[in-house]
Amino acid sequence: MKILSVMLFGAVLMMAKSAFAVSTNTAMIPVRLLDEKGQPGPVTNVAKVVKTDAEWKKQLTAEQYKIARAKGTEPAFCGAFYDAKKPGVYICICCDLPLFTSEAKFNSGTGWPSFFKPVAAENVITHEDNSYGMHRVEILCARCDGHLGHVFEDGPKPTGLRYCLNSASLVFKENKNLKEAAH
Ligand SMILES: [Zn+2]
Repeated sequence: MKILSVMLFGAVLMMAKSAFAVSTNTAMIPVRLLDEKGQPGPVTNVAKVVKTDAEWKKQLTAEQYKIARAKGTEPAFCGAFYDAKKPGVYICICCDLPLFTSEAKFNSGTGWPSFFKPVAAENVITHEDNSYGMHRVEILCARCDGHLGHVFEDGPKPTGLRYCLNSASLVFKENKNLKEAAH
């Protein structure tokens, strides 16, 4: 009986420890959420989303996992959104953070959905990417570190930037208050 209670106590202690570890690892990050008109609000702190590979594999399709978590690239002219013009918001497939809107979408002719700016500078992070013998700048979701695509300096005005995204990293939410994408 005594041994059993010691074992039980040990198990409870282990559970308490792991709960503690999870709560202390949940960093808060500043982002901007959108109002009902699709416009960015004030900087708000949200919890960073951190999951294991097994959890991501359960949540995403194989294709979404390959791109958003394993930094793959979908073939040009094959994704769901490269030619999409409807007004609305593109959110992260992994954590729902709003990332881009139709107002900043343009037809780059590349076969990937392209935007000249994110909804807010806070919502995406960039990284130097020297893979495949190329120097590129990778774009990641600020909340979950999901891979979105790359940003290039050959975009249209006003930013001169081209955020080249994978459709598989995004979910589209229609919002008629926003302008349609430029044709
Ligand atoms: Zn995300």
